[in-house]
Amino acid sequence: MGDSAVGEHPSTNASNTDKSSKSLPGVTSGRKASAQRSGASRPAAGKATDTAKDTTAERGIPAGATARTSASTSPVGKTSAGKKAAVKETPLAKPAAARTAAKKAATKAVAKKTAGKTVARKTATTKDAATKKAAVAKAPAAKKATAAKKATAAKKAAPAKKAPARKPESRVAMVRRARRINRELAELYPYAHPELDFTNPFELLVATVLSAQTTDLRVNQTTPRLFAVCPTPEDMAAMDPERLEELIRPTGFFRAKTKSLLGLSAALRDRFGGEVPGRLEDLVTLPGVGRKTANVVLGNAFGVPGITVDTHFGRLARRFGWTTAEDPDKVEADVAAIFPKSEWTMLSHRVVFHGRRVCHSRKPACGACPVAPLCPAYGEGETDPEKARKLLKYELGGQPGQRLKPPADYPGQPAPPMAAP
Ligand code: SF4
Repeated sequence: MGDSAVGEHPSTNASNTDKSSKSLPGVTSGRKASAQRSGASRPAAGKATDTAKDTTAERGIPAGATARTSASTSPVGKTSAGKKAAVKETPLAKPAAARTAAKKAATKAVAKKTAGKTVARKTATTKDAATKKAAVAKAPAAKKATAAKKATAAKKAAPAKKAPARKPESRVAMVRRARRINRELAELYPYAHPELDFTNPFELLVATVLSAQTTDLRVNQTTPRLFAVCPTPEDMAAMDPERLEELIRPTGFFRAKTKSLLGLSAALRDRFGGEVPGRLEDLVTLPGVGRKTANVVLGNAFGVPGITVDTHFGRLARRFGWTTAEDPDKVEADVAAIFPKSEWTMLSHRVVFHGRRVCHSRKPACGACPVAPLCPAYGEGETDPEKARKLLKYELGGQPGQRLKPPADYPGQPAPPMAAP
């Protein structure tokens, strides 16, 4: 087929065939044989037809069909398909131009393939790079996740660690902390004072005796009427017991308190010339007067330093870790060993103030407590700041204080007088 197509352009193909015969001596005998079979005097077309016939006859293909096919498919015979076919079927007999074209086509095809491969390789490389990049990018996250999983697993596997035992606080450290608490309380309550209304030592002594088992507010609301009736020890000692009971009834335990008041008033009149003594040892000899009452009077009416251990002071001293004692005398001794004497009276007021306003017996407001960082008992009460703030009392809670006549520097409101019965 290829040969027949080429043979349709004798001017070119004949000469090419000759040239190729010259340039390829090894194949000359074959071409000569072919020329002998087809006849040298025949026109080129007839030659081609015969060649085609020979070729098709050798392959068992009808000659007419071959001629038709070749005439219809490649009338010009210069198509690349034809050239390719020629290269395939008779490589030795093809003309030089056809071989060159075929080479070019082959080169192009190879180039295309190479280019394709290169592109494919590049694509593959790019894909690989992208995959590697993605892998690298994923690697830290994956590592992190693995590390987190390992840590969780290790945590689960490891036996629960016990919290390191807290070192017992040394005496020196406790004293330092105690004094820091005192300084903090001094900043918090610069206006701390005794919360009993009084104008002289006798009034303070009587008010302190009445304050047992009741509030200072109740005493302050009671004493104005009492002192209006009996302002001196002599007046009180001369009172009718029932009348006195009636006057102090609002403070509770009024029979026992009446007995104490009548006894100490008579003792002051009889043994101390109607004056309150300024010594502890004398004060504690009076009926109904213990160390606490004596210290209140000494500290606030005489300027003699004293530690007042009432229910608030004892509770806070234990919460602060200053003492473990329950007995008021032992608490007083323990606290006296921590602070200098000059601080005793005001320390008492500050601690009692804090106990009444913040560190309550049942619901201490730990979440609103300025000394919480220094307090070993933090957490005994409400730690939520919002809830704790609602537990604050008196001036810190926006309420009136306990005194009807508070000192000038008191930032809160005075207490109201007792309501008429
Ligand atoms: S932290 Fe709590 S227990 Fe300690 S002093 Fe403050 S309110 Fe009281």
